Amino acid sequence: MSEGAAKKEERHKFQAIRGTRDLLPPETALWNHVEQTANEVFATFGFGAIRVPIFEPTELFARSIGLDTDVVSKEMYTFEDYEATELVELRTAAVTNVASLATGEALRDFLDRVGNFILAAEKAFEAGGIPKTPENERTLQMARELIADLQTFRYQGEREILPRVAELKDAVRQVRFGDVISLRPEATASVCRAYIEHGMRQLPQPVKLYYIGPMFRRERPQKGRYRQFYQIGAEVLGGSDAPAIDAEVIEMVMTFFDRLELHGVQLDINSIGCRECRPKYVELLRAELLKVKDKLGPDSQRRIRTNPLRVLDSKLESEQGTIATLPRITDHLCEACATHYSAVKRQLEMRGVFFRENWRLVRGLDYYMRTTFEITAQGLGSQNAVCGGGRYDGLVELLGGPPTKGIGFAIGEDRLVLSLQESGKAPAQPGRDVYIAWMGERAHATAIRAAKDLRKAGFSVELPPVEQKFGKALGQADKLGAKHALILGDNEVSEGLWTLKTLADGAQLKLPEPALIEHLRKSKAVSS
Ligand code: AMP
Repeated sequence: MSEGAAKKEERHKFQAIRGTRDLLPPETALWNHVEQTANEVFATFGFGAIRVPIFEPTELFARSIGLDTDVVSKEMYTFEDYEATELVELRTAAVTNVASLATGEALRDFLDRVGNFILAAEKAFEAGGIPKTPENERTLQMARELIADLQTFRYQGEREILPRVAELKDAVRQVRFGDVISLRPEATASVCRAYIEHGMRQLPQPVKLYYIGPMFRRERPQKGRYRQFYQIGAEVLGGSDAPAIDAEVIEMVMTFFDRLELHGVQLDINSIGCRECRPKYVELLRAELLKVKDKLGPDSQRRIRTNPLRVLDSKLESEQGTIATLPRITDHLCEACATHYSAVKRQLEMRGVFFRENWRLVRGLDYYMRTTFEITAQGLGSQNAVCGGGRYDGLVELLGGPPTKGIGFAIGEDRLVLSLQESGKAPAQPGRDVYIAWMGERAHATAIRAAKDLRKAGFSVELPPVEQKFGKALGQADKLGAKHALILGDNEVSEGLWTLKTLADGAQLKLPEPALIEHLRKSKAVSS
């Protein structure tokens, strides 16, 4: 490879990681508009912004979202959080690049190194330098026993000791140096944790919070599905589970989408019952599914055992006819859930929110109960869900808090923006209001002052850092989409009369300095 080609390759080495992307202007202007609208609309419903950390203990997500969900079992970015200490070096020395254990001496040497590590780890365990978990205690104990066992072994050859050595190496690798943490795959669990941690129960209930930020899931990337994606979400915590709360939360999302002029919005709702009625329905569903098992594909067959509700999520064409014959949860709700569901529907009607009932809407996460909803929008292909939400009354308690009612939703911001772009709603990035074409030292000083004043008055100004010939300056102003060029040369500065050129029609005007801002204000008002 030539030197030039090697350099070129070097330059192309860094690219955004698969499933992540850079958002650039002018697209970011639309993102800002979406977020600004969320801030405005949610504030009118009395919601306050919350910012929670990007990473949390893995356990928080495992406990709330559920171990047998795809999100927790396959999709989280999880790592051990620890400082590189002497322990790390001792472990590396003990188990990496272990040469053959072909002699008794080599084995003794290996056991010495592992022994050193275990001794240091035991001390750290006692002192709290590594997590004092039952798992760590068990692992250290096991390693000790294996070492003792191998030490008393009469060495007769490598083959006999290898299984035990492998076990010992595994144990050594399993010692946890730090807490296991994950990048957040969603934010509801974090908001509930924060509600408990900050004693928000003492505030007037319910507490209404919203967030905007990135989430991380290791999913297969495709259009509308990323590994780092953004959600705009809201949660209502505490107080009662009055159906009006469910309806108002849904009304808020719909108002937000309406303000953004999102096209083809379709709201689906369902009730998935509570701890009383849902398990009974799930058993009934399982029994019915077993009867039609042979008509289902391998994924659904597996789910009959693990999570029968998920079968209802299936998009497989061949399964649709069978699924249509299954019992529906809405026919099996307990009285309290059925009353709640009817009241939510009535409340939505009172608010003029159109909805479609969808008995198959069960949502993937474990913590939902009663009301669930999903909103789809136009132009998104198979990934057309822009918002999912529901009631999760048991979640705060599950995380160690007091019994607390809760309901919320999360909007996929990437998909929302995509849908807006598909329907042509993207506002073009605003060009500059004024490009200041200056020439000469005196004009430069005046130009700096003019830029400051214009920016203070709210205009977007481009002030070239170095002197340009007027022709070049005007060309540059044009490329940047500037509306006006302010021409400042020695003549203008000494006369106190500035030249303002409107780039669209080439019209030129001489103005005294104090009249400039007023003139620009008027022309902006006319053009907007
Ligand atoms: P969930 O937290 O799974 O209920 O998702 C709520 C919303 O977030 C979905 O309706 C999507 O709009 C969006 N979403 C979820 N996962 C992704 C992803 N991997 N990429 C982009 N958007 C996503």
